[in-house]
Amino acid sequence: MRIAIISDIHGNLPALEAALERITTLGPEKIFCLGDIVGYGPFPNECVALVRARCTEVVRGNHDSGLIGETSIEDFNQYGQRALKWTSGVISEENLGFLRGLPYTITLEGLTLVHASPADPPAWTYVHTMPSAREALEAFSTPFCFIGHTHVPIIIGDDYSVNTYRPPLPGSGSPRHLINVGSIGQPRDGDPRAAFGLIDTETNAYELVRVEYDIERTAGALLKAGLPDPLARRLFQGV
Ligand code: ZN
Repeated sequence: MRIAIISDIHGNLPALEAALERITTLGPEKIFCLGDIVGYGPFPNECVALVRARCTEVVRGNHDSGLIGETSIEDFNQYGQRALKWTSGVISEENLGFLRGLPYTITLEGLTLVHASPADPPAWTYVHTMPSAREALEAFSTPFCFIGHTHVPIIIGDDYSVNTYRPPLPGSGSPRHLINVGSIGQPRDGDPRAAFGLIDTETNAYELVRVEYDIERTAGALLKAGLPDPLARRLFQGV
């Protein structure tokens, strides 16, 4: 089965729409979401509604958790705090109810889905060092674990190979892989295009897809909403 995996949308509707348009063209059977649908961006309701309509599996991110009051607002940086306060003033009760129901982890089709580290999902650990990657690799038993949270795409094998992924040969007893699919709505790897992953669970082929979107539209709406200016500027640089 071919599955598209999106993460870290952060209220960026133009980025989500562009990514979903490309996903429709690519034609996977399912779309999974790794959380952080809200936070930072100016279209939280529209993004939650689209994820509800298009994704069959969704796990919670730290910003989703902050909005429903399960993660302390003190755990976010100043821009994250301001955006969460703004979001809590506009989010609908129905969308809040959806976010409250999201699990931390889902395992299906040989995939583990989690926003941060599978080692302790509610701790929201950033997997951006080898020790954190080692800990994460020990915490799942499926062939693949998909994560987001750092907004930086990376593939790490349990042989500690990095970004050298090739589809394993059938019956080869291949290493398991931890894959960060990057971010739809706030990429931080220097490439401002929206990012998502596409996996074929039969051949194990995986690709990272990048999509251009109307950054001006998101930045304009963000400033109009009174959200902090650096949140708009960073989108143009992908940082
Ligand atoms: Zn995020």
